[in-house]
Amino acid sequence: MASIQLDKIGKSFGAVDTIREIDLAIGDGEFVCLLGPSGCGKTTTLRMIAGLEQPTRGSIRIGGRDVTCAQPKDRNIGMVFQDYALYPHMTIADNIAYPLKVRGVVEAARHEKAGEIAQVLHIDHLLDRLPAQISGGQQQRTSLARALVHPADAFLFDEPLSNLDARMRVEARAFLYHLQRSRGMTAVYVTHDQAEAMALSTRIAVMCAGDIVQYAPPLEIYRRPATTFVAGFVGDPPMNLVAVEAARSEHGITLRGAGLEVSPFASWLALDRALEHSDRITVGVRPEHLRIAKGDAGTNRLRGKLFANEAMGPESLVTLDLDGGVRVTARVFGDATVRIDGDAAFAFDTDRITLFDAQGVRIPGGAESSPN
Ligand code: ATP
Repeated sequence: MASIQLDKIGKSFGAVDTIREIDLAIGDGEFVCLLGPSGCGKTTTLRMIAGLEQPTRGSIRIGGRDVTCAQPKDRNIGMVFQDYALYPHMTIADNIAYPLKVRGVVEAARHEKAGEIAQVLHIDHLLDRLPAQISGGQQQRTSLARALVHPADAFLFDEPLSNLDARMRVEARAFLYHLQRSRGMTAVYVTHDQAEAMALSTRIAVMCAGDIVQYAPPLEIYRRPATTFVAGFVGDPPMNLVAVEAARSEHGITLRGAGLEVSPFASWLALDRALEHSDRITVGVRPEHLRIAKGDAGTNRLRGKLFANEAMGPESLVTLDLDGGVRVTARVFGDATVRIDGDAAFAFDTDRITLFDAQGVRIPGGAESSPN
């Protein structure tokens, strides 16, 4: 296995800068997800690592070796694509063994190797069948087996689970997790599914419009999103974001707007700096940090009208419409007994809110907590 290093990598298609300038250091044995919305440049970045796309600028190293201009076959990587790309006329055994065949491994040895990996992936009873004769999940594992049959320095995955149904997807996700962690494979994985990225990654690179906006372990991204974009992309439902105005009084800073009110709290250096430029602040609060307020009085409240109350089993998702078309959701345990379109309020603790400046960048530190 090997580390992967992207230095100032950029890619333009004609006049369009699809990837601006990316630096990304992936450690040996890491599982890094490239996460972002459609069209942000995830696949292009992966294809440049694979050698299927030539970068316009910058350099790529795998295991310390500069491979920027190397052919895909000379990079020693395994790839798994979204559509599996199995050869329909070949048996599962021949599909798995194909990378060994092109490397000149003799038939007996390659079938032995294919059998071994098929056993690990629980598809050894399907070796004589054709791809059309096995299920989607089994095809996906065949595609994985084909990538893994040849020892590679790193494995690249492009949305490999997206063709599976929801249940099989969760099963395959845990399987991939186990496989990668137990083998210590270096893996780069493209997805627009934040749950998949949270579950699998040692670190997530969140991409937006050809840039990496945050690169950190999953829980760091969840707890301290760098920008409102990251906050709104990670989490299901994502972090609630409410634009407010900050005002100073003798009691401290107060935040108010769109039905949100935060009791006065002491400012800190980073917040002071942000407020020098603008008193427009965005307050972020995760759904699990909201609860249904008993009674209407008090601050640290979000007030609005009940839009939806969805019972999910152990918990409910309760959504309020605030002023100005802002919608916020709470994850509450048990049932919420509020009328549709009736007045309702959520309560929260000040130390659970995240503040973002007028540009949407997180203000480090927090109300009632020490700056970090
Ligand atoms: P998705 O999740 O939809 O696959 P993505 O984040 O992987 O999206 P890319 O496939 O990397 O995004 O594409 C990024 C941008 O580059 C898109 O706007 C796409 O249209 C453009 N693009 C990709 N390949 C080419 C190409 N060969 N020629 C021109 N534009 C391209």
